[in-house]
Amino acid sequence: MNNLNPKEIWSKATDQLRVEIGEDADLWLKPIEALRLDNQVLIVKVPNRFFSDGIKNRYQQRLISLFKEISGLDISLDYEISVDLTNRLPATDPISEPVAQSDFTPSDFNPRYTFASFVVGKSNRLAYATAEVISKNPGVQYNPFFLYGGVGLGKTHLLHAIGNALRQFSPKARVHYTSAEQFVNEYINSLHHKTPDDFRLKYRNLDCLLIDDIQFLIAKEACEQEFFHTFNALFDSRKQIVITSDRVPNEMTPYERRLTSRFEWGQIADITPPDLETRIAILRKKAENEQFFVPDDVILFVASTVKTNIRLLEGSLIRLKAFASMTGSSLTVDDAKEILKDSLPHGSSSPVRPETIQRVVSHKYSIEVKDMKGHQRTASIAMPRQIGMYLACIMTDLSSTDIGRLFGDRDHTTVLHARKKIQKMIDDDPFFLEVVNKLQSDIRAVDN
Ligand code: ADP
Ligand code: MG
Repeated sequence: MNNLNPKEIWSKATDQLRVEIGEDADLWLKPIEALRLDNQVLIVKVPNRFFSDGIKNRYQQRLISLFKEISGLDISLDYEISVDLTNRLPATDPISEPVAQSDFTPSDFNPRYTFASFVVGKSNRLAYATAEVISKNPGVQYNPFFLYGGVGLGKTHLLHAIGNALRQFSPKARVHYTSAEQFVNEYINSLHHKTPDDFRLKYRNLDCLLIDDIQFLIAKEACEQEFFHTFNALFDSRKQIVITSDRVPNEMTPYERRLTSRFEWGQIADITPPDLETRIAILRKKAENEQFFVPDDVILFVASTVKTNIRLLEGSLIRLKAFASMTGSSLTVDDAKEILKDSLPHGSSSPVRPETIQRVVSHKYSIEVKDMKGHQRTASIAMPRQIGMYLACIMTDLSSTDIGRLFGDRDHTTVLHARKKIQKMIDDDPFFLEVVNKLQSDIRAVDN
Protein backbone atom coordinates (compact mmCIF):
# COMPACT_ATOMS: atom_id res chain seq x y z
CA MET A 1 0.00 0.00 0.00
CA ASN A 2 2.35 2.69 -1.07
CA ASN A 3 -0.24 5.20 -2.15
CA LEU A 4 -1.50 5.76 1.34
CA ASN A 5 -2.17 9.41 1.85
CA PRO A 6 -1.16 10.70 5.30
CA LYS A 7 -3.60 13.59 5.16
CA GLU A 8 -6.43 11.29 4.31
CA ILE A 9 -5.66 8.86 7.12
CA TRP A 10 -5.40 11.72 9.56
CA SER A 11 -8.60 13.37 8.50
CA LYS A 12 -10.59 10.13 8.55
CA ALA A 13 -9.24 9.20 11.97
CA THR A 14 -9.87 12.62 13.44
CA ASP A 15 -13.35 12.85 11.98
CA GLN A 16 -14.17 9.64 13.75
CA LEU A 17 -12.56 10.91 16.96
CA ARG A 18 -14.72 14.04 16.82
CA VAL A 19 -17.78 11.88 16.58
CA GLU A 20 -16.67 9.92 19.62
CA ILE A 21 -15.44 12.77 21.78
CA GLY A 22 -17.43 15.72 20.64
CA GLU A 23 -16.50 19.30 20.12
CA ASP A 24 -13.87 19.26 22.83
CA ALA A 25 -11.56 17.27 20.64
CA ASP A 26 -11.36 20.17 18.23
CA LEU A 27 -9.39 22.25 20.64
CA TRP A 28 -6.67 19.67 20.28
CA LEU A 29 -7.07 18.52 16.74
CA LYS A 30 -7.72 21.65 14.75
CA PRO A 31 -4.26 23.15 15.03
CA ILE A 32 -2.66 19.91 13.89
CA GLU A 33 -1.61 19.03 10.41
CA ALA A 34 -0.55 15.68 8.99
CA LEU A 35 2.82 16.01 7.32
CA ARG A 36 3.97 12.68 5.97
CA LEU A 37 4.09 8.97 6.42
CA ASP A 38 7.52 7.68 7.21
CA ASN A 39 7.96 3.91 7.53
CA GLN A 40 4.49 3.50 8.95
CA VAL A 41 4.92 6.44 11.26
CA LEU A 42 2.50 9.23 10.67
CA ILE A 43 4.22 12.53 11.39
CA VAL A 44 2.02 15.42 12.39
CA LYS A 45 2.90 19.03 12.98
CA VAL A 46 1.91 20.49 16.37
CA PRO A 47 2.27 24.08 17.54
CA ASN A 48 4.15 23.18 20.69
CA ARG A 49 4.85 20.36 23.08
CA PHE A 50 1.69 21.00 25.07
CA PHE A 51 -0.20 19.73 22.08
CA SER A 52 1.93 16.69 21.60
CA ASP A 53 1.76 15.88 25.32
CA GLY A 54 -1.95 16.56 25.42
CA ILE A 55 -2.70 14.34 22.46
CA LYS A 56 -0.40 11.59 23.69
CA ASN A 57 -2.21 11.51 26.99
CA ARG A 58 -5.68 11.73 25.63
CA TYR A 59 -6.12 10.41 22.16
CA GLN A 60 -2.99 8.70 20.91
CA GLN A 61 -4.07 5.16 21.66
CA ARG A 62 -7.42 5.63 20.05
CA LEU A 63 -5.89 7.33 17.03
CA ILE A 64 -3.53 4.45 16.45
CA SER A 65 -6.32 1.94 16.48
CA LEU A 66 -8.28 4.15 14.11
CA PHE A 67 -5.29 4.26 11.76
CA LYS A 68 -5.36 0.51 11.74
CA GLU A 69 -9.08 0.36 11.02
CA ILE A 70 -8.66 2.80 8.17
CA SER A 71 -5.51 1.46 6.54
CA GLY A 72 -5.21 -2.07 7.80
CA LEU A 73 -1.67 -1.28 8.89
CA ASP A 74 0.05 -0.70 12.20
CA ILE A 75 0.75 2.96 11.92
CA SER A 76 2.17 4.83 14.85
CA LEU A 77 2.14 8.51 15.52
CA ASP A 78 4.93 11.00 15.94
CA TYR A 79 5.09 14.74 16.37
CA GLU A 80 7.04 17.50 14.84
CA ILE A 81 6.97 20.78 16.67
CA SER A 82 6.23 23.60 14.35
CA VAL A 83 8.97 26.17 14.31
CA ASP A 84 7.16 28.29 11.85
CA LEU A 85 6.01 30.93 14.28
CA THR A 86 5.01 33.29 11.49
CA ASN A 87 2.26 30.91 10.69
CA ARG A 88 0.74 31.61 14.06
CA LEU A 89 1.32 35.24 14.67
CA PRO A 90 2.86 37.09 11.76
CA ALA A 91 5.82 39.07 12.99
CA THR A 92 5.27 41.80 10.47
CA ASP A 93 1.70 42.43 11.41
CA PRO A 94 1.12 40.89 14.78
CA ILE A 95 -2.11 42.72 15.34
CA SER A 96 -5.01 42.55 12.96
CA GLU A 97 -6.64 45.73 11.79
CA PRO A 98 -9.46 46.95 13.96
CA VAL A 99 -12.82 45.64 12.89
CA ALA A 100 -15.00 48.57 12.02
CA GLN A 101 -18.26 47.25 13.38
CA SER A 102 -16.81 46.01 16.62
CA ASP A 103 -17.65 48.25 19.54
CA PHE A 104 -14.27 47.65 21.00
CA THR A 105 -13.26 50.15 23.62
CA PRO A 106 -9.85 49.78 25.17
CA SER A 107 -9.84 48.49 28.74
CA ASP A 108 -8.40 50.61 31.43
CA PHE A 109 -5.51 48.98 33.12
CA ASN A 110 -4.55 49.99 36.58
CA PRO A 111 -1.32 51.94 36.05
CA ARG A 112 -0.03 50.77 39.43
CA TYR A 113 -0.19 47.12 38.43
CA THR A 114 2.92 46.69 36.34
CA PHE A 115 5.71 44.14 36.10
CA ALA A 116 8.03 46.69 37.64
CA SER A 117 5.91 47.03 40.75
CA PHE A 118 5.53 43.27 41.16
CA VAL A 119 7.92 41.69 43.64
CA VAL A 120 9.14 38.32 42.44
CA GLY A 121 9.83 35.48 44.84
CA LYS A 122 9.69 31.71 44.91
CA SER A 123 5.93 31.79 45.29
CA ASN A 124 5.20 33.62 42.04
CA ARG A 125 8.28 33.27 39.86
CA LEU A 126 6.80 31.03 37.18
CA ALA A 127 3.62 33.06 37.00
CA TYR A 128 5.58 36.26 36.61
CA ALA A 129 7.97 34.89 33.99
CA THR A 130 5.16 33.45 31.91
CA ALA A 131 3.17 36.66 32.08
CA GLU A 132 6.17 38.63 30.98
CA VAL A 133 6.85 36.42 27.97
CA ILE A 134 3.21 36.69 26.98
CA SER A 135 3.30 40.45 27.15
CA LYS A 136 6.08 40.50 24.59
CA ASN A 137 4.89 37.70 22.40
CA PRO A 138 1.18 37.11 22.80
CA GLY A 139 -0.45 34.03 21.37
CA VAL A 140 2.78 32.28 20.58
CA GLN A 141 4.25 30.23 23.34
CA TYR A 142 1.95 30.02 26.31
CA ASN A 143 -1.58 29.87 25.12
CA PRO A 144 -3.84 29.68 26.96
CA PHE A 145 -2.19 30.70 30.17
CA PHE A 146 -4.06 29.54 33.26
CA LEU A 147 -3.06 31.18 36.49
CA TYR A 148 -4.49 30.12 39.79
CA GLY A 149 -3.92 30.90 43.43
CA GLY A 150 -5.58 32.13 46.61
CA VAL A 151 -7.11 35.51 47.19
CA GLY A 152 -4.88 38.57 47.32
CA LEU A 153 -1.77 36.96 45.86
CA GLY A 154 -1.34 39.02 42.72
CA LYS A 155 -3.38 37.37 39.96
CA THR A 156 -5.24 40.52 39.01
CA HIS A 157 -2.03 42.49 39.30
CA LEU A 158 -0.35 40.25 36.74
CA LEU A 159 -3.28 40.45 34.31
CA HIS A 160 -3.10 44.22 34.39
CA ALA A 161 0.67 44.08 34.06
CA ILE A 162 0.25 42.08 30.84
CA GLY A 163 -2.31 44.60 29.65
CA ASN A 164 -0.14 47.59 30.49
CA ALA A 165 2.89 46.07 28.80
CA LEU A 166 0.99 45.03 25.69
CA ARG A 167 -0.39 48.50 25.36
CA GLN A 168 3.17 49.72 25.41
CA PHE A 169 4.72 47.16 23.08
CA SER A 170 1.81 46.80 20.67
CA PRO A 171 -0.32 49.92 20.96
CA LYS A 172 -2.70 48.70 18.27
CA ALA A 173 -3.49 45.42 19.95
CA ARG A 174 -7.03 44.93 21.07
CA VAL A 175 -6.43 43.82 24.59
CA HIS A 176 -9.33 43.40 26.91
CA TYR A 177 -9.47 42.76 30.61
CA THR A 178 -12.66 41.57 32.16
CA SER A 179 -13.71 39.61 35.18
CA ALA A 180 -15.81 36.54 34.52
CA GLU A 181 -18.55 38.27 36.46
CA GLN A 182 -18.48 41.25 34.13
CA PHE A 183 -18.41 38.91 31.16
CA VAL A 184 -21.55 37.21 32.45
CA ASN A 185 -23.33 40.51 33.04
CA GLU A 186 -22.37 41.81 29.66
CA TYR A 187 -23.57 38.68 27.96
CA ILE A 188 -26.88 38.69 29.79
CA ASN A 189 -27.36 42.34 28.92
CA SER A 190 -26.66 41.63 25.29
CA LEU A 191 -29.35 38.96 25.30
CA HIS A 192 -31.70 41.36 26.97
CA HIS A 193 -31.06 44.03 24.37
CA LYS A 194 -31.05 41.47 21.59
CA THR A 195 -27.48 42.30 20.68
CA PRO A 196 -25.61 39.04 21.31
CA ASP A 197 -23.95 39.41 17.91
CA ASP A 198 -22.31 42.63 18.98
CA PHE A 199 -21.16 40.94 22.10
CA ARG A 200 -19.63 38.12 20.10
CA LEU A 201 -18.06 40.44 17.60
CA LYS A 202 -16.40 42.34 20.37
CA TYR A 203 -14.98 39.32 22.13
CA ARG A 204 -14.08 37.22 19.16
CA ASN A 205 -12.09 39.96 17.53
CA LEU A 206 -9.73 40.56 20.39
CA ASP A 207 -6.02 40.00 20.15
CA CYS A 208 -5.73 39.22 23.80
CA LEU A 209 -8.39 38.39 26.36
CA LEU A 210 -7.49 38.64 30.02
CA ILE A 211 -10.25 37.07 32.03
CA ASP A 212 -10.17 37.18 35.79
CA ASP A 213 -11.77 34.91 38.38
CA ILE A 214 -13.16 32.31 36.03
CA GLN A 215 -14.62 30.43 39.00
CA PHE A 216 -17.51 32.84 38.71
CA LEU A 217 -18.70 30.96 35.62
CA ILE A 218 -19.24 27.82 37.61
CA ALA A 219 -22.82 26.62 37.36
CA LYS A 220 -23.84 29.35 34.94
CA GLU A 221 -24.51 27.04 32.08
CA ALA A 222 -25.40 29.39 29.23
CA CYS A 223 -22.61 31.79 30.03
CA GLU A 224 -20.14 28.99 30.32
CA GLN A 225 -21.12 27.84 26.84
CA GLU A 226 -20.74 31.33 25.49
CA PHE A 227 -17.36 31.60 27.09
CA PHE A 228 -16.18 28.37 25.50
CA HIS A 229 -17.23 29.60 22.11
CA THR A 230 -15.30 32.80 22.69
CA PHE A 231 -12.38 30.79 23.94
CA ASN A 232 -12.35 28.49 20.91
CA ALA A 233 -12.74 31.33 18.45
CA LEU A 234 -9.82 33.21 19.95
CA PHE A 235 -7.72 30.15 20.32
CA ASP A 236 -8.30 29.08 16.74
CA SER A 237 -7.06 32.38 15.49
CA ARG A 238 -4.00 32.17 17.72
CA LYS A 239 -5.04 34.95 20.00
CA GLN A 240 -3.73 35.06 23.50
CA ILE A 241 -6.01 34.05 26.35
CA VAL A 242 -5.11 34.42 30.00
CA ILE A 243 -7.41 33.04 32.64
CA THR A 244 -7.21 33.25 36.41
CA SER A 245 -8.99 31.28 39.08
CA ASP A 246 -8.91 31.44 42.83
CA ARG A 247 -9.66 27.74 43.14
CA VAL A 248 -6.70 25.49 43.39
CA PRO A 249 -7.25 22.36 41.30
CA ASN A 250 -7.02 19.87 44.14
CA GLU A 251 -9.63 21.79 46.12
CA MET A 252 -12.14 21.82 43.31
CA THR A 253 -15.27 19.76 43.02
CA PRO A 254 -15.47 17.49 39.97
CA TYR A 255 -17.75 20.02 38.33
CA GLU A 256 -15.27 22.82 38.85
CA ARG A 257 -12.52 20.59 37.54
CA ARG A 258 -14.46 20.03 34.36
CA LEU A 259 -14.74 23.73 33.82
CA THR A 260 -11.15 24.56 34.47
CA SER A 261 -9.21 21.51 33.31
CA ARG A 262 -9.82 22.53 29.73
CA PHE A 263 -7.61 25.53 30.22
CA GLU A 264 -4.70 23.60 31.51
CA TRP A 265 -3.25 22.34 28.30
CA GLY A 266 -1.49 25.59 27.56
CA GLN A 267 0.63 26.80 30.39
CA ILE A 268 -0.39 26.59 34.04
CA ALA A 269 1.18 28.42 36.91
CA ASP A 270 0.08 28.87 40.46
CA ILE A 271 0.85 31.60 42.91
CA THR A 272 1.27 30.47 46.48
CA PRO A 273 1.50 32.63 49.59
CA PRO A 274 4.83 34.46 49.64
CA ASP A 275 7.58 33.43 52.03
CA LEU A 276 8.82 35.82 54.68
CA GLU A 277 11.60 37.17 52.55
CA THR A 278 9.22 38.06 49.74
CA ARG A 279 6.75 39.61 52.18
CA ILE A 280 9.53 41.79 53.52
CA ALA A 281 10.54 42.78 50.00
CA ILE A 282 6.96 43.64 49.13
CA LEU A 283 6.57 45.83 52.21
CA ARG A 284 9.85 47.57 51.57
CA LYS A 285 8.97 48.27 47.99
CA LYS A 286 5.52 49.60 48.83
CA ALA A 287 6.86 51.77 51.62
CA GLU A 288 9.52 53.10 49.31
CA ASN A 289 6.97 53.91 46.61
CA GLU A 290 4.96 55.81 49.15
CA GLN A 291 8.07 57.53 50.43
CA PHE A 292 7.18 56.30 53.85
CA PHE A 293 10.01 55.37 56.14
CA VAL A 294 9.36 52.21 58.12
CA PRO A 295 12.02 50.84 60.46
CA ASP A 296 13.21 47.35 59.65
CA ASP A 297 11.91 45.80 62.82
CA VAL A 298 8.42 47.10 62.09
CA ILE A 299 8.63 45.71 58.56
CA LEU A 300 9.68 42.37 59.98
CA PHE A 301 6.88 42.43 62.53
CA VAL A 302 4.24 43.08 59.88
CA ALA A 303 5.77 40.59 57.45
CA SER A 304 5.89 37.86 60.06
CA THR A 305 2.35 38.50 61.15
CA VAL A 306 0.48 38.82 57.86
CA LYS A 307 1.26 35.74 55.88
CA THR A 308 -1.25 34.70 53.34
CA ASN A 309 -2.66 37.78 51.70
CA ILE A 310 -0.71 40.58 50.09
CA ARG A 311 -3.70 42.87 50.08
CA LEU A 312 -3.75 42.69 53.88
CA LEU A 313 -0.05 43.37 53.91
CA GLU A 314 -0.66 46.55 51.95
CA GLY A 315 -3.61 47.48 54.12
CA SER A 316 -1.43 47.22 57.22
CA LEU A 317 1.11 49.54 55.70
CA ILE A 318 -1.56 52.10 54.87
CA ARG A 319 -2.79 52.09 58.44
CA LEU A 320 0.71 52.49 59.75
CA LYS A 321 1.28 55.38 57.40
CA ALA A 322 -1.89 57.13 58.52
CA PHE A 323 -0.77 56.79 62.12
CA ALA A 324 2.76 57.95 61.43
CA SER A 325 1.62 61.02 59.55
CA MET A 326 -0.68 61.89 62.43
CA THR A 327 1.91 61.60 65.16
CA GLY A 328 4.88 62.67 63.08
CA SER A 329 7.14 60.35 65.03
CA SER A 330 8.98 57.24 63.94
CA LEU A 331 7.06 54.00 64.28
CA THR A 332 7.93 51.30 66.77
CA VAL A 333 6.91 47.67 66.83
CA ASP A 334 4.72 48.39 69.82
CA ASP A 335 2.89 51.06 67.85
CA ALA A 336 2.43 48.63 65.01
CA LYS A 337 1.05 45.96 67.31
CA GLU A 338 -1.43 48.41 68.70
CA ILE A 339 -2.45 49.91 65.35
CA LEU A 340 -2.88 46.61 63.62
CA LYS A 341 -4.34 44.55 66.40
CA ASP A 342 -7.90 44.61 65.05
CA SER A 343 -7.07 44.18 61.42
CA LEU A 344 -4.61 41.34 61.58
CA PRO A 345 -5.77 37.89 60.64
CA HIS A 346 -6.75 35.93 63.66
CA GLY A 347 -4.37 33.14 64.59
CA SER A 348 -1.33 34.43 62.80
CA SER A 349 -1.45 37.61 64.85
CA SER A 350 -2.53 36.24 68.18
CA PRO A 351 0.30 36.29 70.65
CA VAL A 352 1.98 33.04 71.54
CA ARG A 353 3.09 31.97 75.01
CA PRO A 354 6.67 32.86 75.87
CA GLU A 355 7.14 29.35 77.30
CA THR A 356 6.49 27.92 73.86
CA ILE A 357 9.15 30.16 72.38
CA GLN A 358 11.67 29.05 74.98
CA ARG A 359 10.81 25.41 74.49
CA VAL A 360 11.03 25.44 70.68
CA VAL A 361 14.20 27.51 70.54
CA SER A 362 15.96 25.38 73.17
CA HIS A 363 14.99 22.27 71.33
CA LYS A 364 16.26 23.61 68.03
CA TYR A 365 19.66 24.46 69.54
CA SER A 366 19.80 21.39 71.80
CA ILE A 367 20.04 23.29 75.05
CA GLU A 368 17.94 23.09 78.20
CA VAL A 369 14.99 25.40 78.72
CA LYS A 370 16.58 26.48 82.00
CA ASP A 371 19.60 27.75 80.03
CA MET A 372 17.28 30.35 78.50
CA LYS A 373 16.94 31.78 81.97
CA GLY A 374 20.48 31.11 83.12
CA HIS A 375 23.56 33.25 83.00
CA GLN A 376 25.97 31.30 80.87
CA ARG A 377 27.59 33.49 78.27
CA THR A 378 29.03 30.93 75.88
CA ALA A 379 27.83 31.64 72.38
CA SER A 380 26.11 28.27 71.99
CA ILE A 381 23.77 29.31 74.79
CA ALA A 382 23.78 33.10 74.66
CA MET A 383 22.81 33.18 71.00
CA PRO A 384 19.71 30.97 71.31
CA ARG A 385 18.74 33.01 74.37
CA GLN A 386 18.91 36.18 72.33
CA ILE A 387 16.89 34.60 69.57
CA GLY A 388 14.33 33.62 72.20
CA MET A 389 14.15 37.19 73.49
CA TYR A 390 13.86 38.52 69.97
CA LEU A 391 11.01 36.17 69.14
CA ALA A 392 9.29 37.04 72.41
CA CYS A 393 9.42 40.69 71.32
CA ILE A 394 7.74 40.07 68.01
CA MET A 395 5.46 37.15 68.83
CA THR A 396 4.01 38.04 72.23
CA ASP A 397 2.38 41.17 73.51
CA LEU A 398 4.67 41.38 76.51
CA SER A 399 6.72 44.47 77.24
CA SER A 400 10.50 44.27 77.12
CA THR A 401 10.51 44.48 80.91
CA ASP A 402 8.27 41.41 81.18
CA ILE A 403 10.35 39.57 78.63
CA GLY A 404 13.55 40.38 80.55
CA ARG A 405 11.97 38.95 83.67
CA LEU A 406 11.08 35.70 81.91
CA PHE A 407 14.56 35.30 80.54
CA GLY A 408 16.35 35.11 83.89
CA ASP A 409 15.44 38.47 85.40
CA ARG A 410 17.29 40.47 82.83
CA ASP A 411 17.06 44.18 82.38
CA HIS A 412 14.83 45.44 79.55
CA THR A 413 17.87 47.04 77.87
CA THR A 414 19.36 43.55 77.52
CA VAL A 415 16.18 42.50 75.74
CA LEU A 416 16.34 45.50 73.42
CA HIS A 417 19.97 44.80 72.71
CA ALA A 418 19.19 41.17 71.82
CA ARG A 419 16.41 42.27 69.58
CA LYS A 420 18.55 44.72 67.71
CA LYS A 421 21.36 42.28 67.30
CA ILE A 422 19.16 39.48 65.95
CA GLN A 423 17.41 41.92 63.70
CA LYS A 424 20.70 42.92 62.19
CA MET A 425 21.67 39.31 61.63
CA ILE A 426 18.37 38.71 59.88
CA ASP A 427 18.91 41.71 57.67
CA ASP A 428 22.41 40.63 56.77
CA ASP A 429 21.85 36.97 56.20
CA PRO A 430 18.99 35.46 54.24
CA PHE A 431 19.79 31.99 55.57
CA PHE A 432 19.44 33.17 59.09
CA LEU A 433 16.19 34.82 58.11
CA GLU A 434 14.93 31.42 56.99
CA VAL A 435 16.00 29.88 60.29
CA VAL A 436 14.07 32.48 62.24
CA ASN A 437 11.14 32.12 59.91
CA LYS A 438 11.07 28.37 60.49
CA LEU A 439 11.31 28.83 64.24
CA GLN A 440 8.31 31.11 64.12
CA SER A 441 6.20 28.65 62.25
CA ASP A 442 7.26 25.83 64.57
CA ILE A 443 6.31 27.96 67.55
CA ARG A 444 2.89 28.73 66.09
CA ALA A 445 2.39 25.09 65.26
CA VAL A 446 2.91 23.88 68.83
CA ASP A 447 1.44 26.80 70.72
CA ASN A 448 -2.12 25.54 71.03
P1 ADP B 1 -5.65 38.47 43.52
O1 ADP B 1 -6.18 38.95 42.20
O2 ADP B 1 -4.78 37.26 43.40
O3 ADP B 1 -6.71 38.30 44.56
P2 ADP B 1 -4.38 41.06 43.51
O4 ADP B 1 -3.67 41.00 42.21
O5 ADP B 1 -5.60 41.87 43.58
O6 ADP B 1 -4.66 39.60 44.06
O7 ADP B 1 -3.31 41.55 44.60
C1 ADP B 1 -3.68 42.12 45.83
C2 ADP B 1 -2.79 43.30 46.11
O8 ADP B 1 -1.49 42.84 46.41
C3 ADP B 1 -2.67 44.24 44.93
O9 ADP B 1 -2.67 45.56 45.39
C4 ADP B 1 -1.33 43.89 44.32
O10 ADP B 1 -0.71 45.01 43.74
C5 ADP B 1 -0.55 43.40 45.52
N1 ADP B 1 0.42 42.37 45.16
C6 ADP B 1 0.17 41.05 44.99
N2 ADP B 1 1.28 40.38 44.69
C7 ADP B 1 2.28 41.29 44.67
C8 ADP B 1 3.68 41.21 44.42
N3 ADP B 1 4.30 40.04 44.17
N4 ADP B 1 4.40 42.36 44.48
C9 ADP B 1 3.81 43.53 44.76
N5 ADP B 1 2.49 43.67 45.02
C10 ADP B 1 1.73 42.57 44.97
MG1 MG C 1 -8.14 39.29 41.66
